[in-house]
Amino acid sequence: MENCLFCKIISGEIPSTKVYEDEKILAFRDIAPQAPTHILVIPKEHIGGVDELTESNSAVVSHIFVKIAEIAKNEGLSNGYRVVSNIGEDGGQTVRHLHFHILGGEKLSEKMS
Ligand code: AMP
Ligand code: ZN
Repeated sequence: MENCLFCKIISGEIPSTKVYEDEKILAFRDIAPQAPTHILVIPKEHIGGVDELTESNSAVVSHIFVKIAEIAKNEGLSNGYRVVSNIGEDGGQTVRHLHFHILGGEKLSEKMS
């Protein structure tokens, strides 16, 4: 997908600090962390966001969540963490490529909005 920041990270055009990669997904550190551990997990296929998921493109989401659990374990987030996906303008999504934030490493705010 042209002009998609995360597609450029997948292609290597824009560098990232990779945490995990396989043929379907990539996980890398957020450039502006909002918690001591802040990782983004994205599918390699361009999907705009949760609002663009369908029965035919959504299998990657279950794969992402299995890997999120593994990544969190590897990062030492044994006391818990938060997984967030912002959707659209009201949801605060700034990059229109499906991504899940893993936030942890401290007691997170009880406020979610
Ligand atoms: P969202 O606001 O939910 O769309 O999340 C987009 C996230 O991408 C933000 O947390 C940004 O800090 C992060 N981000 C933007 N550019 C980069 C980049 N080049 N490398 C890593 N993370 C980035
Ligand atoms: Zn993309």
